[in-house]
Amino acid sequence: MTQKKRIVIIGGGFGGLNLIKNIDKKKFDVILIDRNNFHSFPPLFYQIASSGLDPGSISFPFRRELRKGKVKGAKYNMGQVETIDFANKTVTTQYETINYDILVIAAGTTNNFFGIEGLKEQVYTLKSTGEALRCRNEILYRLEKASLAKTAEERRKILSFTIIGGGPTGVEIAGAIGEMKRYVLSREYPDICIDDLNVTIIEGTDRLLRTMSPRSSKETLEYLGHLMVDVKLEKTMKSYENNIITFADGSELYSEMVIWTAGITGEPFTFVGGEPEITRGNRFVVNEYNQVAGVEDVYAIGDISSHSDERFPYGYPQLAQVAIQQAITLAKNLNKGEFKKTFNYNDKGTMATVGRNRAVCDLNNIHLYGRPAWAAWMFVHLISILGMRNKISVLINWIWAYCTYSTSLRLLFSPTKYPLKSSQKE
Ligand SMILES: Cc1cc2nc3c(=O)[nH]c(=O)nc-3n(C[C@H](O)[C@H](O)[C@H](O)COP(=O)(O)OP(=O)(O)OC[C@H]3O[C@@H](n4cnc5c(N)ncnc54)[C@H](O)[C@@H]3O)c2cc1C
Repeated sequence: MTQKKRIVIIGGGFGGLNLIKNIDKKKFDVILIDRNNFHSFPPLFYQIASSGLDPGSISFPFRRELRKGKVKGAKYNMGQVETIDFANKTVTTQYETINYDILVIAAGTTNNFFGIEGLKEQVYTLKSTGEALRCRNEILYRLEKASLAKTAEERRKILSFTIIGGGPTGVEIAGAIGEMKRYVLSREYPDICIDDLNVTIIEGTDRLLRTMSPRSSKETLEYLGHLMVDVKLEKTMKSYENNIITFADGSELYSEMVIWTAGITGEPFTFVGGEPEITRGNRFVVNEYNQVAGVEDVYAIGDISSHSDERFPYGYPQLAQVAIQQAITLAKNLNKGEFKKTFNYNDKGTMATVGRNRAVCDLNNIHLYGRPAWAAWMFVHLISILGMRNKISVLINWIWAYCTYSTSLRLLFSPTKYPLKSSQKE
């Protein structure tokens, strides 16, 4: 009997979980380390932030998931990996140090504030369930506060929302707040006039959704206009102080709530006993087998890896499909014990939604807009969500919201301050 090799996976997102699904647990001991005890579904974070979905419908507890189906047999340990020791082959979290034979880094990315001073402490972000919930609470709190304000000027200040970044996440959250303005305010917040709420989206280049087709950008601009979202193109934010955004061209904008969707960077680690090659965006440089350059027995998949070729000289796009396909290829190679299968990205296209009946899809040679695109967007997201219970819950929520514009989720749950003791290290 030979002892099974131990694979340690950092991160149970799209990459990590799909690797577990496809790795042969009879050949390997698999340990997943994630700082959260659940897998989440980032494409729908904006719906948590805009009270469209509750976090439970798009979160999946690892301990339940790892008991069944193709992922059965892997072990989950909670922890935030802080240090990787390549010489001794260990990873260290705030709770423990674990040995590995093979390490797979699938930790994804975090927000990048490009060194703008004080931004992290002041803006709202959408990179995790917790961040989306904070965003939701702040929007709801502002709507309540504005309802109590004495003057229109006061209300306008409280309800000045700005989204920085005109990529899919920025467009989706801008559209969702625009829908609140157009369809929800008059029904649920009678003390607020439609003109009291202002939503602005800022993009540095000359079009929204610049990774999609020009027609998709144009349609998106129109959809946002219909939802009364102010779009400012070719504007770069330089600073945000005392509720004033200053742009590179010297112009200013007053905004009390800023949602930052403009940049991401690889999750940081401390390295000991080896120096992996890191490239721009704090991503690990990997080859066509996802092996990390500069260190042995270490692989990186998903958003934190950078595999470049002629098609993608700056690395493959940071998308769920890339992470899933890399995980499947890596699992096949590890299962076989030899590295023959190279990663070959099958680009299935991209899509974004702005609101009900308003979406854009660029699927290879097929381009969809409006209602058909919106139906395709819903279908793709629904089938991608893990678990039948969650699929049904999301579908019911969407049908209900479609028919009534109403949701039972505009609830302000604030965490209590005491007791101060916490089992989790902050
Ligand atoms: C708001 C939003 C919307 C998006 N929309 C789309 C979309 O519509 N379509 C699309 O294709 N892609 C979309 N993406 C991108 C997509 O989510 C990513 O490409 C995908 O999640 C990458 O998978 P991953 O496994 O590399 O990382 P992730 O899915 O981010 O998973 C990383 C995991 O690692 C854990 N982790 C991180 N650091 C540590 C650490 N130090 N220790 C322990 N655990 C750690 C995290 O908790 C997380 O569970 C979106 C992303 C966001 C944020």
